[in-house]
Amino acid sequence: MKFEVTILGSSSATPVHNRNPTAQLLNCNEKFYLIDCAEGTQQQLIKFNLKASKIDYIFISHLHGDHYFGLIGLLSSMHLNGRIKPLYIYGPAALQEILELQFKHSDTHLKYELVYFYTDTTQSAIIFQNNDVTVETIILNHRIPCTGFKFTEKKRLRKLLIDKLEQDNVPIELYPLLKRGVDLDLPNGDVIRNLDYTTDSAEPKSYAYCSDTLFDERYFESIKDCDTLYHEATFLHEMLERAKETHHTTALQAAEIAKIVGAKKLLIGHFSSRYKTLSELLDEAKTVFQKTELAIEGLTFEI
Ligand SMILES: [Zn+2]
Ligand SMILES: [Zn+2]
Repeated sequence: MKFEVTILGSSSATPVHNRNPTAQLLNCNEKFYLIDCAEGTQQQLIKFNLKASKIDYIFISHLHGDHYFGLIGLLSSMHLNGRIKPLYIYGPAALQEILELQFKHSDTHLKYELVYFYTDTTQSAIIFQNNDVTVETIILNHRIPCTGFKFTEKKRLRKLLIDKLEQDNVPIELYPLLKRGVDLDLPNGDVIRNLDYTTDSAEPKSYAYCSDTLFDERYFESIKDCDTLYHEATFLHEMLERAKETHHTTALQAAEIAKIVGAKKLLIGHFSSRYKTLSELLDEAKTVFQKTELAIEGLTFEI
């Protein structure tokens, strides 16, 4: 099953140095989840050959423009392109008011239904689940209420050892039960032991998305042991005071967090416009957490 994230933007505040502000597209089993939607997100989707029409779920972390100013354009284009299936938006309650005001004054009546779910920015909660994935909020500490999102795969059914099943003439009707881990007593007295014919499926993986936040131990429990941690790293650590003032994190801190929570891999992003090149941010993070990569636009990372 595919579980991967494509970076659409990794700049903080403004588009600069050929970097767009924040947006990411998560593909989980060929279902598409957009995480934040800054200005330019539509253009980025087109540039990287990703289809906006495939997105059914959008998650917005907070209402700073560098995380959602692309939303009204994307929603309008979906309407103009004939979308009729519903679209589900998860984010702060005020987002609905903002979007509806824009639709009202442009006399836009969407052909599809927009379904809003308000995120509670005071306590972590499961806000979405389907057969593939569960999404839980992460309560971040930013200048305005802000949540991250943790996507965790659902455990898959057991895998059948087809050659062995065929060799022993196990009836095909029994396969679904074996996939569920059941041992079978047949009418003739035979017993089919599940362990002889199946293997366990892979352990579910998780992706934690931490957009704008201060280093704050209170959210560490929510992202414990994640497979891939995306964490903002707006500044180098020499700018720690500035990071604190603006409620952001340094590259060194992002790496410390990855280490503390036991992440297997770290992606850093949300880079300040003061950095034309990003190697120093990467080098700084790697001094603490070797498995760090830069969230470069257009790159796709397997979770
Ligand atoms: Zn931001
Ligand atoms: Zn922000």
